[in-house]
Amino acid sequence: MSALPEKTRSSNNFNKLKKRLEREVGKAIGDFNMIEEGDRVMVCLSGGKDSYTLLDILLTLKARAPIDFTLIAMNLDQKQPGFPAEVLPEYLQRLGVEYRIVEEDTYSVVREKIPVGKTTCSLCSRLRRGIIYRVASELEITKIALGHHRDDIVETLFLNMFFGAKLKAMPPKLHTDDGRHVVIRPLAYCAEKDIARYSRAREFPIIPCNLCGSQENLQRKQIKQMLAEWEQQYPGRTANIFTALTSVVPSHLADTGLYDFNNPGGDIGEGDTVFDPPQIAGPGLIR
Ligand code: SF4
Repeated sequence: MSALPEKTRSSNNFNKLKKRLEREVGKAIGDFNMIEEGDRVMVCLSGGKDSYTLLDILLTLKARAPIDFTLIAMNLDQKQPGFPAEVLPEYLQRLGVEYRIVEEDTYSVVREKIPVGKTTCSLCSRLRRGIIYRVASELEITKIALGHHRDDIVETLFLNMFFGAKLKAMPPKLHTDDGRHVVIRPLAYCAEKDIARYSRAREFPIIPCNLCGSQENLQRKQIKQMLAEWEQQYPGRTANIFTALTSVVPSHLADTGLYDFNNPGGDIGEGDTVFDPPQIAGPGLIR
């Protein structure tokens, strides 16, 4: 059998990658009931690979979805120096998708409040979150879609564990405390490396994410590095850690608020396996 020409091979590979991402996004949407009939979904676009991929895949899925919903792309122009303000409107106009660009100079606020050299991300994201919620109310949005993926979720799990002493990650779907907004993360099952490959192949007009001049959070950087080393040594480990988040056994943890150890009963997960060795599963099984 003759080998396939390079061009055909790479187009086959791209199609496989595209199908995988679509399948994973479709599954996340189904598993968490992320999008329903009549929803107005605001897709937050930063100009990075993740949010471009999110919008792209959602548009594809919408075209063949059995339900009707609206997608509205939203970008917050935070007035960072050198932000190419024309890139996203041009891209979105070409796509023909409804969009809203919101201009708010959070950059100056952050610069004024945080000394030079300190990490500005936490204030910056707090301000951004407030604006996103306000715009969502103005546009009568029912779901706010963010581009966080599986690797972001696993990194957050370790950040919270190592630096906050909490077993807590980033949920695929979240109702805000005041009950006014629902945040969804349709890329929750997607690996960052797949998104990066997809984004390169689709040649999205990426806007660099370091315009604000802030250093990436050092702790997150360390966690990323740790996970990358693990992944190299034990391929499939990140996927396994994510899958563990979908298969929690409260009776085998130590949170008295989550499980009544004085009055055991009901579903105790895998039962009395106290002297059993830990289970070894295959890599990356999303059930
Ligand atoms: S990297 Fe810059 S723009 Fe992004 S959250 Fe941090 S301060 Fe804000």
